[in-house]
Amino acid sequence: MKIICIGRNYAEHAKELNSPLPAEPVFFLKPDTCLLPKNQAFFYPEFSKDIQYETEIVIKINKVGKHIQEKFAPGYYDELTVGIDFTARDLQNRCKDKGLPWEMSKAFDNAAPLGKFVDKKIFADVQNIDFHLDLNGKTVQKGNSKDMIFTVDTIIAYVSQFITLKIGDLIFTGTPVGVGPVKINDQLKAYIGDECLLKVDIR
Ligand code: MG
Repeated sequence: MKIICIGRNYAEHAKELNSPLPAEPVFFLKPDTCLLPKNQAFFYPEFSKDIQYETEIVIKINKVGKHIQEKFAPGYYDELTVGIDFTARDLQNRCKDKGLPWEMSKAFDNAAPLGKFVDKKIFADVQNIDFHLDLNGKTVQKGNSKDMIFTVDTIIAYVSQFITLKIGDLIFTGTPVGVGPVKINDQLKAYIGDECLLKVDIR
């Protein structure tokens, strides 16, 4: 399986990183070694001094598809959750400054903690889901999927022009404003609505 991540999909977040708004979805991949088994601790890596959280709605692909039309995209996922796109911001900025790919800042081991999946049917509208992240009990990031620049269905249609989607593939749909650093002994809890679907202790 592969993990496809969308960048700059919320206008306020693009602004906080001084990034221009994209005219088309921006995506990058994380390998399956980014997965962090549910509720296990994340060990702060020695290669970075600025690991940041990005809280995102994550879609799980349920069938194989290529060149999926947007109108059929809803048939390609049944479940979603919330996940964290951990980013080594210092490495990312260093790569960006040199015009280099910044894969290393996103693709390191355990950089994609994933919550418990829930059936999308429990939501009246996938493009109107509240989610948030608490850091040590205080809410630090709050988003609603209605603020995505590109909807889940647009993303599926766009990405599947380039990459065949397979069963079990995950799509991280971008982070809202409010990204920030973690430190050792922090605890992250990610919620959809009032339900905590993911807990990560930083060690
Ligand atoms: Mg992200």
